[in-house]
Amino acid sequence: MSRLSFRLLLLVLSGFLGACATGRGPSETGTKDTSKSFSTVVVDAGHGGKDNGAYRKFGGAEKIATLDVATRLARKLRESDLKIVMTRSTDIFIPLEQRVAIENAQKNSIFVSIHFNDSRRRGIHGFETYYHSANSIDLARRIQSKLMTIPHSANRGVHSANFRVLRLAKYPAVLVECGFLSNRLEGGEARDAEYRETLADRIAEAVVEHRYGAGVYHAAKSAAAQPPSEGPGLAPSSLKRD
Ligand SMILES: [Zn+2]
Repeated sequence: MSRLSFRLLLLVLSGFLGACATGRGPSETGTKDTSKSFSTVVVDAGHGGKDNGAYRKFGGAEKIATLDVATRLARKLRESDLKIVMTRSTDIFIPLEQRVAIENAQKNSIFVSIHFNDSRRRGIHGFETYYHSANSIDLARRIQSKLMTIPHSANRGVHSANFRVLRLAKYPAVLVECGFLSNRLEGGEARDAEYRETLADRIAEAVVEHRYGAGVYHAAKSAAAQPPSEGPGLAPSSLKRD
């Protein structure tokens, strides 16, 4: 064995031992892929209470915008016959460990965390979606591509991240950054109820399509638009339990 290949062998071995010693989190080996079977969506409104998140003059407090989008998203998903658990539904502080406990307590679920972004550079704008486990990549991509259908949206990509609510998740988990509060246009939009409704709508569409297949959400929306007495049902009648 040459000196070089011996060194290489050592490197490989130490890498292997290192991986064993640090222990792999559930997201690397133990995440359950429930992306095609989930019946529950844990909707996480970022920040809250004493934790404002970002706070910018254009967009205001992040915790307010996240709660509003999360609440709208939860309503839309409920209308598609999914069970919803929110980590918070009022302006209260929830530690990250508690959010993880709530997300992992739901069997056969996925987790969607709502945030808004912040930068010192006001020109920066666009959507980002984050994941940690391989089981979450498709959902992250689908959400990102649905957000890109919003007019004038900018794509800052789908990325992996070590955020605790993603790293410690037992089930597929994503975190959506719904634009920059530090940007004049996106910050202004984040304050606008109609725009928040659109954000929630695109994310809900991605989640419903991920679960039930492409076209389901759109079909339901147009069906719901016809009979005004029936209210804004989003799932097609075949998915409804009457
Ligand atoms: Zn945030």
